Amino acid sequence: MEVIESIQMMADYSQNLRAKGHTIVLVPTMGFLHKGHLALMEAAKAHGDKIIVSIFVNPAQFGPNEDLDTYPRDMERDLDLCRDMGVSVVFTPAAEKLYPQDFQTYVELTRLPLHLCGLSRPGFFRGVTTVVSKLFHIICPHTAMFGEKDFQQLVVIRQMVKDMCMPIKIVGVPIVREADGLAMSSRNAYLGPEQRADALLLSKSLANAQKMVSQGEKNVREIIRQTKQILLSCPDMRIDYVSVCDPDSLDDIEQIHRPALLALAAILGKTRLIDNCMLRP
Ligand code: AMP
Repeated sequence: MEVIESIQMMADYSQNLRAKGHTIVLVPTMGFLHKGHLALMEAAKAHGDKIIVSIFVNPAQFGPNEDLDTYPRDMERDLDLCRDMGVSVVFTPAAEKLYPQDFQTYVELTRLPLHLCGLSRPGFFRGVTTVVSKLFHIICPHTAMFGEKDFQQLVVIRQMVKDMCMPIKIVGVPIVREADGLAMSSRNAYLGPEQRADALLLSKSLANAQKMVSQGEKNVREIIRQTKQILLSCPDMRIDYVSVCDPDSLDDIEQIHRPALLALAAILGKTRLIDNCMLRP
């Protein structure tokens, strides 16, 4: 497995793979890898013969009061996991190289970021789309893998690729959960034991909503009311949003007649957690 830090060397390496007829699949990550990331790598194997994982904690997607400095990191462990997964290259660019002093070009969507996480994290999706398009330009993958855990991110990236005519296939991978239902996340490392137990309310509230819909409930207001009630049964939980929306446009819906996305974000202590599921009538 190669570990490449230099942007130029990564670009050259990728072009060389392409020239030799290899099919490249990119898995972009911020590191501190867990089974959710590994599922992306495993799924990547079905889409190409060379898997490239990028590990980069992207400063452009963190707000001024967010956790850029404390974001968990463990490069040695991450590299071991990538090696075990049969990854060909891990790309670990330095922030000063991706964003040099004179950097001034951003990629920004006009509408999709005005929903869900984009509302409480202004600039977040601009940072995501900017770094992902830089990675796409450097690596020129045939396919890139994204988790449904960050459902809005997946929708945003699909739209960017379509709008910018990028010849890259975007593949979504289902959410990987802990045995008890908590969606895996690098940020779960911030949770103390009590918070870890309370965090289960997120997946529990989603399961409750899915049960309501399977029993015939179509009224989104009622689904949201019960979902919030379950989350707020923990006094330390603050809700950012609970939304039922169209999975493509992310526009709110009032009645469930087609598959709809139930997405939520909540803050437990200082940790912001997100989760989602599809509601299928
Ligand atoms: P991150 O390192 O948090 O930026 O995540 C990198 C990629 O892994 C993103 O496409 C995420 O959506 C995906 N991912 C993170 N956690 C999970 C999970 N629990 N299940 C599936 N995909 C995930």
